[in-house]
Amino acid sequence: MSRPRIVIVGAGFAGYRTARTLARLTRDKADITLLNPTDYFLYLPLLPQVAAGILEPRRVTVSLAGTLRHVRLVLGEADDIDLDARTVRYSDPEGGVGTLTYDRLVLAAGSVNKLLPIPGVAEHAHGFRGLPEALYLRDHVTRQVELAAGGEDPESCDARCTFVVVGAGYTGTEVAVHGQMFTDELVRKQPLRQGMRPRWLLLDIADRVLPELDEKLSRTADRVLRQRGVDVRMGTSVKEATSTGVLLTDGEFVDTRTLVWCVGIRPDPLAESLGLPMERGRLLVEPTLHVPGRPEVFACGDAAAVPDLTKPGQYTPMTAQHAWRQGKTAGHNVAASLGLGEPKPYRHSDLGFVVDLGGAKAAANPLGIPLSGPVAGAVTRGYHLAAMPGNRVRVAADWLLDAVLPRQGVQLGLVRSWAVPLDTASPELARMPGGPERTAAPGAQRTPDAQKTPAVRSTSAAQSAPGAPEEPQPSPKPAKGSEGDS
Ligand SMILES: Cc1cc2nc3c(=O)[nH]c(=O)nc-3n(C[C@H](O)[C@H](O)[C@H](O)COP(=O)(O)OP(=O)(O)OC[C@H]3O[C@@H](n4cnc5c(N)ncnc54)[C@H](O)[C@@H]3O)c2cc1C
Repeated sequence: MSRPRIVIVGAGFAGYRTARTLARLTRDKADITLLNPTDYFLYLPLLPQVAAGILEPRRVTVSLAGTLRHVRLVLGEADDIDLDARTVRYSDPEGGVGTLTYDRLVLAAGSVNKLLPIPGVAEHAHGFRGLPEALYLRDHVTRQVELAAGGEDPESCDARCTFVVVGAGYTGTEVAVHGQMFTDELVRKQPLRQGMRPRWLLLDIADRVLPELDEKLSRTADRVLRQRGVDVRMGTSVKEATSTGVLLTDGEFVDTRTLVWCVGIRPDPLAESLGLPMERGRLLVEPTLHVPGRPEVFACGDAAAVPDLTKPGQYTPMTAQHAWRQGKTAGHNVAASLGLGEPKPYRHSDLGFVVDLGGAKAAANPLGIPLSGPVAGAVTRGYHLAAMPGNRVRVAADWLLDAVLPRQGVQLGLVRSWAVPLDTASPELARMPGGPERTAAPGAQRTPDAQKTPAVRSTSAAQSAPGAPEEPQPSPKPAKGSEGDS
């Protein structure tokens, strides 16, 4: 009898752990295929440190081929899943297409930037969901400081050195605090006119930072943010974004060239393209992570609405902590469906949260014990090192170097504004000149064929950051399969 074919879509926290668990449990009794657009697992919680120049980008990646034995990696993105035919159609990074056939399917495609219908935001803001966006931000911020330091016009200098971050969850909080420290260090080497200091604004409509976390963490983070110089404005958001700045909901217009959109994430649009029962954009699953009515299909991580057995009536939050553990349960239950072991429900109580606030500071509540200051800083870094599935020594080495050496203030300019649009179904990939643009518009289906769906457009809709004329767009070539709509 031929070996069962297991296809896992997505190699993030959930998919990576599923593959690792299955490789161990099936011991070569199944063909395990992992479909992912990149050849690495991305440790997202350390992304703000990449944007701030503390960690080199490869440090937060873990090679899939190098760490997952007995798992076949297929580079590509799932475009279309036929649940009846049991096939996954995908496109590879060079535009080729392929089809995978499965006996068991695990959907773990994660999430994308959340968009709100605010005028100008889709055109002028950038998200913070993937490595290209972090690299873009690092270079963009460095360039703004360099242009401001060398320029004559005080208004332009002011605008270039004002950075607006929207969303005070853990992502926005870490981006703002690390950003402030990064730009302070940059201006120490190339001072701005009249001793001006770069200004980072952190906005949220909520009344406190880290609104989804414990209040004690919130208070610690708020205090450290203000000590570091971040302009924290709660109860405030963006009413409109333009090429020269943002209009806030309190009526103030802030001149800026940088709008970082961290208002949250929503499940990858692949999930909603399947026509299966959903809960707020996430695929509804049983506690065993089965998709109801499809015993051969499993889903986990951000893309799945998993009942929280520790909080009846609720679903588990979209966090790495849950996705990682759900991956283990998914692997276990896929193996059980093949006769290897018994299925078990997913159950996990939160172990607390850690938020890195730069330097030796952090806010953490491991096992519910609130910590702040250097103790929290040590716990936070120790937690990340323990949680990473690889590359720990290199990450620790970068932290050590950052503690003893000045940060490198250079921008390579490899990821430009148009390559990292906010509205994308593929935040993990920078767009290529002439390549297809995959928007994450609600209801949009992933397919490389632009004639079938408006989800794929030509590059002509490329966008730029507020007032970023220094970033020319690529010459518009028609996207593959498109009619060159301009
Ligand atoms: C900046 C940032 C900081 C964060 N910090 C924390 C933190 O400190 N603590 C915490 O608990 N959580 C944190 N999170 C949230 C956490 O990272 C997510 O909840 C977690 O990554 C979800 O895991 P996942 O496997 O579902 O998705 P992901 O880790 O996003 O993985 C999804 C994978 O699927 C791939 N994929 C997407 N679409 C397709 C497709 N069509 N075909 C094939 N593959 C596809 C992607 O490339 C990716 O590899 C953070 C998130 C961000 C963005």
